[in-house]
Amino acid sequence: MSDVLQLTRDLIARASVTPEDLGCQALISERLQRAGFRCEHLRYGEVDNLWAVHGEDGPTLVLLGHTDVVPSGPREAWASDPFVPEIRDGVLYGRGAADMKGSVAAFVVALERFVAAHPGHAGRVALLLTSDEEGDAIDGVRRVADTFRARGERLDWCVTGEPSSTAKLGDLLRVGRRGTLSATLNVIGVQGHVAYPDKARNPIHQAMPALSELAARRWDEGYETFPPTSFQISNVHAGTGANNVIPGELQVLFNLRYNPSWNAEALERECEQVLRAHGLEYEIRWFRGGEPFYTPEGPLRAAAREVLAKFSGAAPAESTGGGTSDARFIAPLGAQCIEIGPVNASIHKVDEHVSVADLEALPDLYLALIERLLVQAS
Ligand SMILES: [Zn+2]
Repeated sequence: MSDVLQLTRDLIARASVTPEDLGCQALISERLQRAGFRCEHLRYGEVDNLWAVHGEDGPTLVLLGHTDVVPSGPREAWASDPFVPEIRDGVLYGRGAADMKGSVAAFVVALERFVAAHPGHAGRVALLLTSDEEGDAIDGVRRVADTFRARGERLDWCVTGEPSSTAKLGDLLRVGRRGTLSATLNVIGVQGHVAYPDKARNPIHQAMPALSELAARRWDEGYETFPPTSFQISNVHAGTGANNVIPGELQVLFNLRYNPSWNAEALERECEQVLRAHGLEYEIRWFRGGEPFYTPEGPLRAAAREVLAKFSGAAPAESTGGGTSDARFIAPLGAQCIEIGPVNASIHKVDEHVSVADLEALPDLYLALIERLLVQAS
């Protein structure tokens, strides 16, 4: 059995449902230490983070991943136990096979091979792992990034192993992600009898024009390959259940997915300006989920495109779609960020899987990329 397949199986067998790590990082740091990496365990709250680095100075390439997985759901829904890795017809099944214990194992194997072949390589090569990507994402890479900022850690390039391929390994190169900003808005009115509206203040009537304006607004025309920023209302609650009572309060939840023409602060300001312009009395709680990032054309993107084209036989699609990833916390440190990983068709689903052939190709793919950046470029 190949090294990467064995390691992926060992990781799947540890049922590390977020924010648990269950020894995944210990297993990995043991191996990397043996290969000459300096390993640092950064535990914050319930969350394990591992920082392993090789090399002294110069440009730093970080491979970024997570050892936690989403819950499996009912065991009966799976064809085999989600935490007992099983191969059927050339496909490895298990929770985390694609998201993203396969990529993490491939990172480790690629790093071991890289430092064995190039002990005096240029720059630094590093692995950053967290056990809090699928959960709250507070004590994971977000906190590690704060630590790095405080100690002046310099990161130049970051490759996240999130499953990003669409139909075939290497057919997609993620070069950015949108930002996400959520809010809980309470519009305050005055409760009263529907027959005496002059003695009440209807928060629904007051909020509707403001919400329509926000929902209909064209925020921008998109940015590079990003779609236009979108504002979506996800929940609206008001009313006592009786049809003769004007409610005293309206609660609205909404979210913005935004491209790099905006940041959270500017969006909050714009939204509140609309609320005030409509004369609303309100309270609002914002949750900043992560700023967008975008890696324009440059050495990292060019190297990745060439490596992927070689592996999949065609130039990859270069995309900024999808949800968010931990790269959102690394990009603000000044690093260029991209994402390359296996096919994502089964992630978070029952019978999550990865093709064994793809899994076994991944270490070569990551190794080729590391070499392009830290050997040929030097
Ligand atoms: Zn993931």
